[in-house]
Amino acid sequence: MKQLYGSAIIVSGPSGVGKSTLCGKALQALPEIKFSISCTTRNPRGSEQNGVEYFFLSHQEFEKRIANDEFVEHAEVFGNYYGTLKSQLLDPVKNGYDVFLDIDIQGAMQIREACKKDQLLANVCEFIFIVPPSLQILEARLRGRATDSEEQLALRIGKAKHELSFANLYDYIIVNDNLELAAEEMLSLISSFKLSTKRRQWEE
Ligand code: 5GP
Repeated sequence: MKQLYGSAIIVSGPSGVGKSTLCGKALQALPEIKFSISCTTRNPRGSEQNGVEYFFLSHQEFEKRIANDEFVEHAEVFGNYYGTLKSQLLDPVKNGYDVFLDIDIQGAMQIREACKKDQLLANVCEFIFIVPPSLQILEARLRGRATDSEEQLALRIGKAKHELSFANLYDYIIVNDNLELAAEEMLSLISSFKLSTKRRQWEE
């Protein structure tokens, strides 16, 4: 059996859905998986380090990389640029490693479009969307954690509703109700990706 490529696992979900906790939990069990380090123009927070959580770039540097066609996708999120370098996605998968991308919906949809014109991308990408058990529960979670005003909260909830309308454009949906169960579902999806004939070939 010849393993041709790893998988590029693209994960999105609305804010408040618990995506970071869920992904963190699932990825702990997969030390060999690579994490795609995005570029961003936002400032580092807390203990974040350049080249670890993100590559922190100036607007000018980011725009230079757009002009050089270095991104497989890029988008503006909360007033800052975020983008995935082609090298971050393609280098690991070409070497047989899985790579994990935590990106927003605009970025995921750009990669979806790019897959239509690029066979290698189409062969390696898998799209997972995380949803809450219900809108009411998402709203309660957003209220619970936020120090937001009613107005900001209404904006977040409106945005989350809009984002949930994209769920069916992904390949897989994970409901984040029970964290343990959702993490197990993510792990079993990721291990099944390896078996796809898009990425492995039977050879005598
Ligand atoms: P944060 O600033 O909190 O780290 O991330 C904010 C949002 O940007 C999250 O929804 C995250 O998924 C998204 N994001 C992070 N990296 C990328 C990227 O490379 N491309 C896109 N399109 N979104 C990203």
